[in-house]
Amino acid sequence: MAEAYSSLAKPTILVVEDEAPLLTLLRYNLEKQGFKVEEAADGQEALLRVSEARPDLVLLDWMLPALSGIEVCRQLRRRPNTRDLPIIMVTARTEDQDAVRALDTGADDYIAKPFVMDALLARIRALLRRSGGVAAKGTLTYRDLTMDQDAHRVSRSNRALHLGPTEYRLLEFFLQHPGRVFTREQLLDAVWGRDIHVEPRTVDVHIRRLRKAINGKDEPDLIRTVRSAGYALDAEDH
Ligand code: CA
Repeated sequence: MAEAYSSLAKPTILVVEDEAPLLTLLRYNLEKQGFKVEEAADGQEALLRVSEARPDLVLLDWMLPALSGIEVCRQLRRRPNTRDLPIIMVTARTEDQDAVRALDTGADDYIAKPFVMDALLARIRALLRRSGGVAAKGTLTYRDLTMDQDAHRVSRSNRALHLGPTEYRLLEFFLQHPGRVFTREQLLDAVWGRDIHVEPRTVDVHIRRLRKAINGKDEPDLIRTVRSAGYALDAEDH
């Protein structure tokens, strides 16, 4: 279902794509859905555009001249001001390896070419929902972990943590139900939404990233893996 945005809150999507016909098609469809579209035709230009004006989301093609999408993603994740910039990677092949590599590099989601426009739009909306816009409600804590939902800040033992939008939403969900075990499917429904199809193994990738972000050296792992069941926010330190 089309979800129109008011002109005041038009999210900007930076489309990084070197195939002109596809770029035109994407611009047409995204604008029709109420998005503002910026373009970049190669990786270098993408980095330049982002530093000029931060978009709300980057739709990043993997195969680009000069600098690959993977490299652009890596560089954006390395910069403090774009560490949490929502990125959807467009992969050329449907191989699982590529998807996992895209996520490991720091992309929040991926879609394989050729894609159905509605599926892409659903993913864009879902990621924008995860990355903000959600009404803030106060502070959530678990052990030495604190999430300030108003300031969108997370800390552990007073150390500021930097989470991507998906990891933030995942942690927020765990903090709302500490100790409870959730299956990958339940986490997908709660965090990604029911309207998009995501491989259950995607959850594993984001759990790995969440662990890396919240568990400092010598700190107990706050995420418990429950074999053949799923995950829980539950420290195993006794
Ligand atoms: Ca390309």
